[in-house]
Amino acid sequence: MVGGAGRMGQSLAENLNLIDGMVVCALVDTHEPEHLYGATYFASLAQVDPSGVDVVVDFSQPDSVVTSARWCATNRVGLVIGTTGLSDDQRANVESAAAATGIIMASNFSLGAVLSERFAAMAAPYFERVEIIELHHDRKVDAPSGTSLTVATRIRDARAAAGRVTPEEPTKRFTLEGARGADAGDGVRIHSVRLPGLIAHQELLFGGAGEGLTIRHDSYDRVSFVQGVAIAVAHVDATPGFTWGIDDFIT
Ligand code: NAD
Repeated sequence: MVGGAGRMGQSLAENLNLIDGMVVCALVDTHEPEHLYGATYFASLAQVDPSGVDVVVDFSQPDSVVTSARWCATNRVGLVIGTTGLSDDQRANVESAAAATGIIMASNFSLGAVLSERFAAMAAPYFERVEIIELHHDRKVDAPSGTSLTVATRIRDARAAAGRVTPEEPTKRFTLEGARGADAGDGVRIHSVRLPGLIAHQELLFGGAGEGLTIRHDSYDRVSFVQGVAIAVAHVDATPGFTWGIDDFIT
């Protein structure tokens, strides 16, 4: 578990251990974790013996994801990535490592979020406009969330496939810059809220003639990501290839 001392790393270390057949054997982090949950602490992946590891799970920060991808490619170990906020370069590095090992990466491993993406793609062609409000805890370092960017792409693709184009919006005069959020393409706007007390939440607001549809997902606890990470861990191995998301594994 890379990022094993972090909020997600600690929650995953505690909860993946409860799943049959899964043992979190190593917590890798630049600082020592508060709880080890039976694992051994390492300051870097370079100190870990690859023969004792089936899969690396990375919930850290973008630079270390590239290091994890290289280590996994060199040692032919499968990799599951949950870290968000990668630049295009970092993402390209990760994808090229997948020429040597299996990598599954997702911006949101909670099953509710995966399903709400599916539902959003179903609804997207039938409504004139859609806006996304993503809400997260106030210590999140990137905005907008990786989840909102992923769902925006999925919505845009579904609209394009159906030949639906968002009409130009009449709001052109801004008393306060940024009031309409960020345009993620084709008029899909993302609004990022950061507040203490939140974990990870998202509302997809669809608007059409005389009606609206809201798809809302709430992660109340980091345990919501465990099942999806476990599914990815069960599906990844050293067979080369890059998979985005866990949608294909949830039938
Ligand atoms: P966090 O800051 O609590 O934890 C990150 C950890 O990574 C820290 O302990 C930090 O010391 C460690 N770290 C930094 N550099 C490192 C390195 N070079 N090697 C090893 N460890 C290093 O953050 P968090 O809330 O646990 O989130 C971690 C990441 O997971 C973020 O990118 C977040 O957006 C993402 N996330 C993804 C999902 C998902 O479902 N995909 C869900 C929640 C969070």
